[in-house]
Amino acid sequence: MTQNTEKSGAAAVDRNQQLFDRARQVIPGGVNSPVRAFRAVGGTPRFVQRAQGAYFWDANGKRHIDYIGSWGPMILGHGHPAVVEAVQKAVLEGFSFGAPTEREIELAEEILRLVPSMQMVRLVSSGTEAAMSAIRLARGATGRSKLIKFEGCYHGHADALLVKAGSGLATFGNPTSAGVPPEVVQHTLVLEYNNIQQLEEAFALHGDELACLMIEPIAGNMNFVRASVPFMQRCRELCTRHGALLVFDEVMSGFRVALGGAQSIYARAIPGFAPDISVLGKVIGGGMPLAAFGGPRSIMEQLAPLGPVYQAGTLSGNPVATACGLATLREIGKPGFFDALAARTRSLVDGLAGAAREAGVAFSADSEGGMFGFFLLDALPQNYGQVMKTDGPRFNKLFHGLLDRGVYIAPALYEAGFVSSAHSAQDIADTVAAASEVFRAG
Ligand SMILES: *Cc1c(COP(=O)(O)O)cnc(C)c1O
Repeated sequence: MTQNTEKSGAAAVDRNQQLFDRARQVIPGGVNSPVRAFRAVGGTPRFVQRAQGAYFWDANGKRHIDYIGSWGPMILGHGHPAVVEAVQKAVLEGFSFGAPTEREIELAEEILRLVPSMQMVRLVSSGTEAAMSAIRLARGATGRSKLIKFEGCYHGHADALLVKAGSGLATFGNPTSAGVPPEVVQHTLVLEYNNIQQLEEAFALHGDELACLMIEPIAGNMNFVRASVPFMQRCRELCTRHGALLVFDEVMSGFRVALGGAQSIYARAIPGFAPDISVLGKVIGGGMPLAAFGGPRSIMEQLAPLGPVYQAGTLSGNPVATACGLATLREIGKPGFFDALAARTRSLVDGLAGAAREAGVAFSADSEGGMFGFFLLDALPQNYGQVMKTDGPRFNKLFHGLLDRGVYIAPALYEAGFVSSAHSAQDIADTVAAASEVFRAG
């Protein structure tokens, strides 16, 4: 199944290793975003030469079935013709103007059509920027400072959000990163995901000081963990009762788990459900730097130039990125797209579970739309602590076993996986066969 252009032998030049060695001289750790460095799993990162459809080719010319897809954006696979055409056309018209364009309106209209909880949207360039701006907006709109986040949820690397749990409830965060002063995170309260009791206690203590509660509704930064429906319902009720805003970070789940994002799934389960502010990224840009945040008009009109909450960006609403995003959203909005993607993704997860079962390997897995996660655990975890019970060395063996066989999954056990519409039934079958070999090898 894998296509090596050269037979791997001791004498073969490893271009990935050469590039990594060179990169490390000029780029910290050799990468521009830490997880790419393979530090969790060991070994040499694969430098991508080019990609098409469900595959990329590394610097050795070896083909990989790609289950990362730029960490979610490439929902149509790489180089989808309609998207390439839109981008090529946009490039010829100009790269960036620092003045408004019609395409920004078109993209905004398309987003609002697909995510009805939003009446207005502001475009930015990264998920980090969108989440950071959403927090500022929530604080500006409520006149409050405190916020709740959950352990294992990632909302980008803005200072106030780079916090993991302290020792339980009402412990305000300790920064996860050097360079974040404790004073900057003193208003960030970190709770356990899916823990209703902690949530209630936090609101009882701090409810009237809370600007917002920010959550990844289907958390993809601790592999794949769903917020339970009762938990989400309680988040909504408590926010409403205390005047705090419910902020859905759908940077990963938006346009990925369903056309209307994870919120459309909770809205089906909980009558009248909607978040107050939504944060979007990844798929929205189709692989280009583009993200957004939005909500009701009354909240969004607090933003400059209308309101007192400042927010800006030289490249915001970039004309090439918006062309790419718009073309992507139009493709995924076609009838039947998500049903087919969800079925393909489900077939992967079921196939992997079957292979694990046959080999007697502890395994659990879940998927929604084109996003999936699996664990070397008997049961699906409900929070970060449970996710981290996965056997790390065992996961690393699986990762490298798959990588050797031309299957590229996330190089860390706390990351989700992504299937695109370019992944064929044969790609899934090849992946399951590779996993089966690795499982049976122990
Ligand atoms: C990726 C991600 C972010 C950060 O987005 P960037 O574009 O990497 O800054 C924020 N929140 C969630 C849920 C994400 O998955």
